[in-house]
Amino acid sequence: MNKSAKVYLVGTGPGDPELLTVKALRLLQNADVVIYDRLVSAAILEQIPSGVSQIYVGKKTGNHTLPQDEINQLLINVAEGKRTIVRLKGGDPFVFGRGSEEALVLAKHGIEFEVVPGITAASACTTYAGIPLTHRGLAQGVQIVTGHSQKDLPLELDWNALADANKTIVIYMGLANIDLITHELIAAGLPIDTPAAAIQNGTTARQQRVLSTLSRLAVDSKEANIQAPVIFVIGKVVSLANELDWFVTDEAIEHSFSDQEQTVHG
Ligand code: SAH
Repeated sequence: MNKSAKVYLVGTGPGDPELLTVKALRLLQNADVVIYDRLVSAAILEQIPSGVSQIYVGKKTGNHTLPQDEINQLLINVAEGKRTIVRLKGGDPFVFGRGSEEALVLAKHGIEFEVVPGITAASACTTYAGIPLTHRGLAQGVQIVTGHSQKDLPLELDWNALADANKTIVIYMGLANIDLITHELIAAGLPIDTPAAAIQNGTTARQQRVLSTLSRLAVDSKEANIQAPVIFVIGKVVSLANELDWFVTDEAIEHSFSDQEQTVHG
């Protein structure tokens, strides 16, 4: 075992390379090998100096490029021969990123590691969509949940706790279940006209924003052909999205040449 090997589990943020931390950028520029996920944007991979080996281990629901235990084994194997191994993760490694699982494997094998936080999608994508996570009088807190259920199992969330009109709800990996999620929240008492949004490819030039309400979110997202990666945001703070719409995307530029519904595609 190579004692000087160190694995850095590095969060990249959700896409915009300027949201990389100074530490993430420094590590990328000094890496011997970079291992990365599907959610790490091309613009971020461009920051890796040429000649540094890059290993892709991206995953898609139901279409695993490499199963998690093979990724864990790969990390151990790579650590045998290299000094600085950078394991890139979209957003933050410890928010739905399995970074903690990988860190546990490294700890178990006595491999030195560091974790570099990144800006998680709930923070960056909402901000780029003009939606504050909290706002005096609109939201006292935030609930961040996964909308993904294990294959063949029903999605089990605490709907009564989630259906709190004074807290913003952010749902990761929720596209397949958004119909069910909105129905359950309404059944648990959240008003049907609660403002809601879908944000696809947040912080990138291809960001797309759908502004809607709780009862229409699933259908409006479908009509706008929203695809992963997407987060859903439900709560009164979404009502500020038009006033706070500061981020100019390629989509917005295209739309500004026509009379397309600006309130739907931001
Ligand atoms: N560790 C990541 C989350 C990984 S789980 C983080 O902290 O952000 C993958 C989910 O994150 C996606 O299904 C989507 O819900 C969300 N996500 C990540 N990047 C995104 C982006 N650029 N735009 C919208 N959603 C994103």
